[in-house]
Amino acid sequence: MREIIKAKCSDISSEGKGVVKLGKYVCFVDGLFPGEEADIEILYQRAGVYFGKVKKLYSLSKDRIQPKCKVCTSCGGCQYQQISYQTQLAFKTKRVKEALSRIGGIKTDVLPCIGMDEPYYYRNKIQMPYGKDKRGNVVYGFFKENSHEIIPVKECAIEDKRAASILWDIKELVKQMKLPIYNEDNGKGVLRYVLIRTSYHYPEVMVVLVVSELNFPGQRNFVNELIKLHPEITTIVENENRRHTNVILGPKEKVLFGPGFIKDDILGLSFEISASSFFQVNPVQVEKLYKTALNLIKTEQNLIILDAYSGVGTIGLIAARNAGKVISVEINKDASRNAIENAKRNNINNIEFYCDDAGHFINNMEGELDVVIMDPPRKGSDEKFLSTLLNKKPKQIIYVSCDPETLARDLKYLSKLYQVGYVQPVDMFPMTAHVETVCLLTKK
Ligand code: SAH
Repeated sequence: MREIIKAKCSDISSEGKGVVKLGKYVCFVDGLFPGEEADIEILYQRAGVYFGKVKKLYSLSKDRIQPKCKVCTSCGGCQYQQISYQTQLAFKTKRVKEALSRIGGIKTDVLPCIGMDEPYYYRNKIQMPYGKDKRGNVVYGFFKENSHEIIPVKECAIEDKRAASILWDIKELVKQMKLPIYNEDNGKGVLRYVLIRTSYHYPEVMVVLVVSELNFPGQRNFVNELIKLHPEITTIVENENRRHTNVILGPKEKVLFGPGFIKDDILGLSFEISASSFFQVNPVQVEKLYKTALNLIKTEQNLIILDAYSGVGTIGLIAARNAGKVISVEINKDASRNAIENAKRNNINNIEFYCDDAGHFINNMEGELDVVIMDPPRKGSDEKFLSTLLNKKPKQIIYVSCDPETLARDLKYLSKLYQVGYVQPVDMFPMTAHVETVCLLTKK
């Protein structure tokens, strides 16, 4: 029998779990919020920290709301659907403030997190595995945390609404046409995942069928039927993934219908998005995020701006409109190639692209930089990049971060020479514990 303890939740962790203090130990509990008291079953211990689940709730937080999604407590994607949106934003602001002070030793004002007016159905990309349940029925949804069991999801509360009925009808077509579903254990079968990308600014929808082998049987029929049911689909792509990993897309693809990409706009620039392109998933908030970051640039003539960790070039291309020159560096070859195409597409000529490690690149580059915009992945930047920044001494550094804890670590390093002057969290992922932050650093 596992141990059950009655205790009160005192805080929320950076992953969005309730924090319960048990003497000198800490226990993290999913779906428990500050102020709530519960019987907690201790599940396991890792590195001196306990993890538990709620057995019985004695009191509910006044900030609780009815979640939109029935599986939000089991799917693991949304930590905050049960809590009001205002409270979610307050949690995020607090997370950034505490990380900066605790990890970075930086005491500064943190502005209230910028939220969304409609914080549901925002994601423009959704990918779901297809499989069979215990009774042999075709199901699709999300993998349960740390497992390969599919939790069926009919309508996800954060995905673009156009995706739900397409995913459902694909399941019906699979049954009708007897298309074999891929079996993870023995590698047999065809359909593995379906990925849907929607454009915010245009009536364009892409369906990607991830299969174990290209040219699956009956594909012409399948495509024709799907388009008949959903004329809003503008392109269908088949992607081959033979690997037994969690990576969803494989290297080979074939366009089955339409152009093989959709287009979308960010702040007036146009982007082409293919099956594997990286593209920000919240089209409403990305404009607020980029505006927040770019408004911090001092308006001077002919600025030289570095856009580091540039992805498909979006921030740099927008910055180029008011700059002398933008230099963009990104390590991923495909993203870097997409960035060059995006520049051509928008007739932007004052931007150069380099496919390289950001630290290696900046260490070897000559010439002055006025402004550095950096947007690293969750693990943050590294010493090579940061130490070279301290040598190059750009006037302004604008750090766009998707992880407050690594942000705080990096700011601590930069604070030898730079002052953190402005910290603005932006909510790119409502209903989840993730938070994006824009920081301005100026030379001391
Ligand atoms: N600024 C972009 C993308 C940010 S995501 C946007 O707003 O959409 C972070 C990017 O950093 C990814 O594209 C990733 O491929 C890239 N990256 C990761 N490590 C890198 C490194 N060491 N050097 C350069 N780019 C890197």
